[in-house]
Amino acid sequence: MRILIVNDDGIYSPGILALAQVASEFGDVIIVAPDMERSSTGHAVTHSRPLSYRRTAIAGFDAFRVDGTPADCVAVGSSILNKADVVLSGVNLGYNLGNSMWHSGTLAGAKQAALMGSRGIALSAPSSTVDVDFEPLKPHFARTLQLLLPDVGLPLVNVNFPLAPRGSLWTRQSVRHYDGQVVPVKDPMGRQLYWFTVVPMEETEEGTDRWAIERGLISITPLRLDLTDGPALQRMQQQLRDAEPNVPKM
Ligand code: MN
Repeated sequence: MRILIVNDDGIYSPGILALAQVASEFGDVIIVAPDMERSSTGHAVTHSRPLSYRRTAIAGFDAFRVDGTPADCVAVGSSILNKADVVLSGVNLGYNLGNSMWHSGTLAGAKQAALMGSRGIALSAPSSTVDVDFEPLKPHFARTLQLLLPDVGLPLVNVNFPLAPRGSLWTRQSVRHYDGQVVPVKDPMGRQLYWFTVVPMEETEEGTDRWAIERGLISITPLRLDLTDGPALQRMQQQLRDAEPNVPKM
């Protein structure tokens, strides 16, 4: 099995090394990751300038650092590998739960794999002011890969690990609105700057990714690329049929 590993924290993140070490027990690993942190860059791709990449030494792994986004790295890695069997993105330093999935570069790496007809698995762990010790989490990474690496018809999966997991739960994405306030601060020269902040406005719903993490469980969420709101589509189609009965039925 050819496993391509990407992330959005940058190629020198301890999370990507821990993931590569565990994944190498399951197949041939190649690391292709951004040369600097690209967290919260979402699913951006670089199309108005060329990309470049360089081979780099990461603890004995075949690794390349790219001056691009996580999604760029999947494209570059797929061309180096002539398509990977699976793309693992992470392990991110920080959860990617609920609303974070819309901003996450980690998840974008996995999504890019799914868009290119491969499979993508995003993996995230808590962030901390000191580097997270991944050693105790490695057996949990291994068990999760054992579950998800075989092709069981899941093109895109988002996994979040609490610090000390006591089990796993299949979950759905939580939808929690946040205030998105832009908070003014002053720099040391007295100039005005602004921070984008995320303060949740609602409680956590049962059965969601965040609900699992709050209970010390590994959250595994199967995702799809189709964002269509199925019930809304049906409702609006019905409304149109009622208003204009002569419109051809779809
Ligand atoms: Mn990140």
